Parts: sequence; structure tokens; C-alpha cells
Amino acid sequence: MISVVGFPRIGQNRELKRWVESYLDKKISKEELIQNSKELKKTHWQIQKEYGVDLIPSNDFSFYDTFLDHAMLVGSIPKEYKAVFSDDLELYFALAKGYQDQNIDLKALPMKKWFFTNYHYLVPEITENTKFELSSTKPFDEFVEALSIGIKTKPVIIGALTFLKLSKKSNVDIYDKSFWEKLLDVYIQILRRFEELGCEFVQIDEPILVTDLSTKDVELFENFYRNLLSHKGKLKVLLQTYFGDVRDCFEKIISLDFDAIGLDFIDGKFNLELIKKFGFPREKLLFAGVVNGRNVFKNNYKDTLELLNTLSSFVDKKNIVISTSCSLLFVPYSLKFEIQLDSNKKKFLAFAEEKLKELSELKLLFSQGNFTANSIYLQNAQLFEELNKNKLSDVSTAVNNLTDDDFERKPCFEERIKLQKEVLKLPQLPTTTIGSFPQTTDVRSARSKLKKGEITFEEYESFIKSKIERVIKLQEEIGLDVLVHGEYERNDMVEFFGENLEGFLITQNGWVQSYGTRCVKPPIIFSDIKRKRPITVEYIKYAQSLTKKPVKGILTGPVTILNWSFVREDIPLKNVAFQLALAIKEEVLELEKEGVKIIQIDEAALIEKLPLRRCQHSEYLSWAIKAFRLSCSKVKPETQIHTHMCYSNFDELLDEIAKMDVDVITFEAAKSDFTLLDSINKSQLKAEVGPGVFDVHSPRIVSKEEMKKLILKMIEKVGKDRLWINPDCGLKTRKEEEILPTLQNMVLAAWEVRNNL
Ligand code: GLN
Ligand code: ZN
Repeated sequence: MISVVGFPRIGQNRELKRWVESYLDKKISKEELIQNSKELKKTHWQIQKEYGVDLIPSNDFSFYDTFLDHAMLVGSIPKEYKAVFSDDLELYFALAKGYQDQNIDLKALPMKKWFFTNYHYLVPEITENTKFELSSTKPFDEFVEALSIGIKTKPVIIGALTFLKLSKKSNVDIYDKSFWEKLLDVYIQILRRFEELGCEFVQIDEPILVTDLSTKDVELFENFYRNLLSHKGKLKVLLQTYFGDVRDCFEKIISLDFDAIGLDFIDGKFNLELIKKFGFPREKLLFAGVVNGRNVFKNNYKDTLELLNTLSSFVDKKNIVISTSCSLLFVPYSLKFEIQLDSNKKKFLAFAEEKLKELSELKLLFSQGNFTANSIYLQNAQLFEELNKNKLSDVSTAVNNLTDDDFERKPCFEERIKLQKEVLKLPQLPTTTIGSFPQTTDVRSARSKLKKGEITFEEYESFIKSKIERVIKLQEEIGLDVLVHGEYERNDMVEFFGENLEGFLITQNGWVQSYGTRCVKPPIIFSDIKRKRPITVEYIKYAQSLTKKPVKGILTGPVTILNWSFVREDIPLKNVAFQLALAIKEEVLELEKEGVKIIQIDEAALIEKLPLRRCQHSEYLSWAIKAFRLSCSKVKPETQIHTHMCYSNFDELLDEIAKMDVDVITFEAAKSDFTLLDSINKSQLKAEVGPGVFDVHSPRIVSKEEMKKLILKMIEKVGKDRLWINPDCGLKTRKEEEILPTLQNMVLAAWEVRNNL
């Protein structure tokens, strides 16, 4: 049998995004949104059926986010929202997006990254007032919808432990039986309802099981499921895990009455060891996640079939279900739209639709004893031979020849910063921004005209330069100390570099849902990375020529480019990171040569991709930080290197961040309660710091007084000599009218504090 953990829901042309946006803009009705979505779901079920998927998921669809759907299902919704809306869909979008009218002002639920992916889920809050009760019919409706076209789906439900652990908790003890029993009741009702509807298989997703678990977590898991499974009746229950291995609870899992267990053999290689060590119960099915749901490269059939064969010495062959490693939500829909991709490269790729085909081919090959003679197998093997030949090049040689010296910046921080102060002559509490200014509609439309060939590159370039002129003037008027060029030329901080480096493939339609209606188009790292030409130099040089103040050159760092791209699986990530670092290094040195005195290398995604298990952190950080160092180790001592990181919950990682050996680091702090600043003094970090003084994600205009208070508090924590004043991230997504007054207030606040030092 073959199974899919989840299917992309946004639609092959991002239809769902458009419908939801139109509904929210009141351009289509609720009924239209629902009807269109029904058709979309049908299409998705049908296509899986056509490829022969035996167990097709339902309830993996969502208007916005499945975690929010689940919160609605179990009744975990704040009272103040419930009271306002009689319509469930309005309530739903109020939770997702916030709601404002004359009398009501409700904030959206916060968003968080879903494990180490770039998908964000909405974080519900569980309080002592939360009353769990079955509150939605969505999963049942979808099951019936599919049934009406003759498809008996496998509904997907988020598991209780994952739900409880990933929700925000206030005044509740999730380990207390009297608390979780109420949630258990709801889950029992869910199973019962599915059974009544004639459902055979239910998939319960518990990805939290692949993270480090405490004894209490494992106990809760065991107690909850021992209870739940005693109520499953005729239903078969699949416990689905993904994103890693289940080393902390494998024995518990196999001892419970699950009918099937889904394990990820891509991100959870250790799962195989667990099976080898502890065996696998005869009567259970193993859903073997062997087709990668998080990457776009073709499956290597030889490797996969070897793995499946190994598994079959522990699990009856007929009990092995071939499955995706996780939901296909994290890959684009189909390669069929990529008409511009070079077919010599495209043949190595597989998006969601192509992965369905891989599943069915693997099923066929696995069921045949002697598959090595099969032409499908042979073709695939040939493809990988060809890919292998592709590996060695001068870039790989350059990476292999790196020595310790390539990663060392000289002299030490104290000496460098002294020189930098002499050269830059900045005032105390220097003010700056993180790089991007609002991407106004004229910028977007110029880019799209360039793509369509409606304007020439020269016209586009002169338009961008006019934007740069304007933003330099604006910043001078506001009185900022270190200026930026505004990043108008960049569609996205990673895709832009992908487009300008050799080794990347850029897709036309490779959209992946990032959250709600927002999608991103990650570039694909396909071959060795080389810098073909200067990437940012022209614009930054131009910006610097317009002002006496220093203009900061802004680049995306190697680890962030790596983490927000799809990366070839047969080359170690570390090597790819070093290749990227060498390319960025060339850009850094050229900027320096052109007179740019401050260079910021953004590493927004360095922390975000930290492995899920603590024991793997140091391995990742060791090469990630080295890659960063490689990109800037050879600049002159007086060139000031900045980095920017988006998330501030890296208190415990400060000593690691210190190893990046930067001169200045800016990060998000406006929303956190200064715990990070407290930790900075106790850490090894010597760099100057720019904890953001306002949250760029909110359209609110922030007053001078508010920021002044914040600055004074920051001085208390880190002192006046190493403090920079800046927003907490780029201003790209804001409107100018929202942001310019706040920036002005920020500068005035810094001046007032500065004058009283
Ligand atoms: N320099 C980028 C910008 O200003 C940084 C964005 C980010 O950290 N996500 O947009
Ligand atoms: Zn940021």
C-alpha cells in the first residue's frame, strides 16, 4: 500500500490564497469560498487517487492553518473572540488575522515556525478557563465530501501531546490528569464520529515525539493513548510522526494499541536503528516515510529499496506501507508548470505531484522481487549516476583546501572596534535601520514589468536608482547616522541572491505556503555555487556616492541562503554552506574595495534551523558559524561587520553567537521582556548590540517617549557604549506613512537620550 501524510492545500496556482484574500476583502461571499474550496479539495483527492495512493488524507485542507482548525475542533478558543462572532468563519479569520471595528479590537493569535520548517502555525492559548468540547464538524464534513466522490479518506487529526505542548499555556498543568481527561473526552468523540461515518483509518499526527521529551511527557503520551485507544472500536489508528526519530518513546509507542505507526526515515534515520534494536510488533503496520516531503529532489530508488528491504527483515513485507516522510505541504505542487527550467536539470526534481508518482513506482518495484531489471529502476539509477559525476569542481576543491586561517578575523575585536571608531566617527547610540524600506507598489510593478519584458533592464535600473536617491534623502532628513540603500532591487532576501549566483534554479511557480495566504518560492541549490558577477555592489556604491554618511552594505548570509533554499541531498550541507560563504565573501571584499565601510551580513535563519534535538546543536552550529566567519574573515580591521538576526529567543545560545565574531549585531527585542539583554552581559558576546526598539510587524506608530524609555532601560542593561538604536527587522512589508513617523521618533528619542548622557 502507499500513503500520503498530507497534501499541499493552496492549489496548483495558489487559488486558495486568492479566494481567501477575496473573501477577506469582501469580494466573494462565504458560500463562494466554501464552494470553491470543495472543488479544490476534490481535485486534490482525485489526483492522489489517479496515482494510486491507497490512503489519501483528508482534513489536511485548511482555509488558513490546520493548527487553528484543531483548536476550533476541540473548543480551545478564547471567550472574548467567541462572544463577538456568531459566524464560525468570521470567528476563524478573526483569530487568524485579528479584527478591528469601532468597538472591537482583537489581536490575531501569534504565529510560530512549525518545527524546523518555514511554515508558521497559529499558537492557540490554553487557560484555566478553556473548556474542551467538540466544537466543529470540519474533519467529518471533509470525510463525507470525499466519500461522495467515492474516496474513503484517512482523516488527519493533530495529536493531543503535540497540541498541548505547542499551545501557549496559562495557569494550567497539562500533565494533570483532571486537566487532560477533558481533552481525552473530545478525542474519544472524534474517533466515535469517524467510526459512525464508516471511516476505517484515522491518522493522528504527533510530530512532537521527535523532540527531546521529559519523563512526564512520555507518561502523558502513554496515559492519554492507553485511554484513547481503548475506545477506538473498529477504527484503525495510525500514529504518525515526522521530522525526526522517536528515540525517547519508541518502546512505549510499540507497546500501545496503535494499528499502525508512521516513522520518518529521511529526517529520522535513527528510526531504523530503533527498529533493529527493539523490533517491530508483528500485527502492526509500519508507514515507512521514505519519500521526502521537505525537498524537491527525486527519490533515489536504489537507496530507498535497500532501506525497504532492510525493514522487511523486521516487519512483514505486507505490513509495510510506503509513505511520504511528512506532509507534502513543504514542497511546490507540480513540475508541469516549470516550462522554463532546463530539462537536463528538471529531470532530477520531483514536486508534490511527481512524488505521488514516485510512491506508486516504489510500490511496484518493492512488490516485485527482482526489481533491478525493471526499466523504471534502471532509469532512476542512471539518473543518480549522472548526478554523482556532477560533484567535483573547482569550488569543491576550494572548499577542501580551506585552512583555519580562512575562518579567523584579525586582529581581535577590541583592537578592531577601536580602529572602526576612529574611521567611522559615529556618535554615541548610533541610529540605523536593518536594510529594507517599504516595497511600494511602484517597486513591485517595475519588477513585474521587467519580468514581462515591458521595460528594459536599463529602465529598471534607473528606476531603482531613483528610489535609492529618494530613500537616502529621506534618511538624511530623518537624521539617521548609518544609512541603507533600501533593498528595492530585491524581491526576497534569498531568492534575489539565488537569481544572481550560479548554481541555483529559480522556479516560475514553485510556491510553498509559509503561513495563511502567504507563499514563498524558495530557490533550488542545484550545482556548485559561484558568484558570476557583482550582486549588490552597483546599487550600494551608488547610494554611498549620494551621501557623506556611511551607507551600510546589506547582504544575506550563507547560512540563511542555505536554510531558505531547497538543497541537493547528496552533498553535505556544510560544504554547500562553505560554497555560499566563498561567494558572499567575494561580494564582501568587493564592497570593501569600493569604499563601503560597514557591511551587514544577515543571518535571519541561522537560529531557526537549529536541529530539533539538543544533542545535535553543536554539530550544526559548528559549521554554520564557520560558514558565516568564512564570508567576512578577510576584511580590513577597520571595516565594520554587522549581522542581523530576527528572533531573540537565543538567550542560551549567546556564547555560540559570540563565536561569529561580528562587530555589531542587531536583533528583535521590542517584543521580548529583556531577558536576552540580561544574558548578554553574562555571555561571551563582545559585539556592540542593536536590540530593536520597535516591532516592525505592527502598523502602530510608536511614540518618541515610548522608545526613549526603552532606550534608557537598554542602557541600564548593556551600557551606553555598545548600544545601537534601530528597528527590530527590515521595513519591507510596512507602508511608508506608518514607518517614517516612527523612524523620526526613534531618532529624536536617541538624540534626547544622547544629549543627556
Ligand atoms: N535586511 C533584511 C531587510 O531589511 C533583513 C530581513 C530579515 O531579517 N528577515 O529586509
Ligand atoms: Zn529580521
